[in-house]
Amino acid sequence: MNDFRNKIAIVTGSARGIGFTIAKYFAQRGATSLIIDLHQKDIDSAVQKIDDAGLKAIGYPADVTDNKAIKNVFRDIYKDFGSIDILVNNAGITKDGLLMKMKESDWEAVINVNLKGAFNCIQAVSRYMLKQKTGVILNIASVIGIMGNAGQANYAASKGGLIALTKSAAREFASRKIRVNAIAPGFIQTEMTQKLSPEVVENYAKAIPLARMGTPADVANLCLFLASTEANYITGQTINVDGGLII
Ligand code: NAP
Repeated sequence: MNDFRNKIAIVTGSARGIGFTIAKYFAQRGATSLIIDLHQKDIDSAVQKIDDAGLKAIGYPADVTDNKAIKNVFRDIYKDFGSIDILVNNAGITKDGLLMKMKESDWEAVINVNLKGAFNCIQAVSRYMLKQKTGVILNIASVIGIMGNAGQANYAASKGGLIALTKSAAREFASRKIRVNAIAPGFIQTEMTQKLSPEVVENYAKAIPLARMGTPADVANLCLFLASTEANYITGQTINVDGGLII
């Protein structure tokens, strides 16, 4: 299991956080990990870290919300490598606020990155995966997309939409042996959740049966499984990595 030698794995938003760990884990199992993120400096430092471990990673600066730029990057990647085996749509942002007071721009920004960004990448990769008649697409959703959350209407809608997008893409691409699944992490320790106060973190931990926050490795391990041939009969699913938060 988990042998990704000669595989090309694209991970969006992977200069840091969960995405970086996913890219590193694929590289540790022999893949060439392609890091798509916003800023060249962050990308260079992520690539360097993977490189220092004797593993393969290459960076591509791009904004997932830019349909044309993403199409161009995927075209370049396919030209450079001749195949794209795995796409992980991980890039995501939050702009929290109560629904009544939420700025239209905060609604749009979150939907644009978390949902339209995944659409852009799926559309861009689909032409190559359909031609190859093989491929794996993983969408990093969130438990918030399943259960909702006060103060996160935009985020919840984007992740709920991503889960629905996963199901439709899985149905559309199944005949070409392309599998599409979503992963719904609970509360994972990253810069995104570092902003939370210790009291909030403690309260969350109390609500989690396994009584701890998750780690990026918890999410990356599921990515490895879902992208492996052992998961060949799994498509259109959303699998929670949340310590039992939703049972
Ligand atoms: P993170 O630490 O904030 O990292 C997100 C990465 O995405 C950053 O490198 C960011 O770049 C990049 N990014 C943002 N907008 C982008 C764009 N338009 N195009 C390309 N890259 C972009 O977040 P994380 O906590 O690792 O979360 C990763 C994913 O897991 C997200 O989809 C998130 O919603 C999901 N998730 C996280 C948790 C959690 O508890 N952490 C729970 C459930 C789901 P910049 O740094 O330059 O902005």
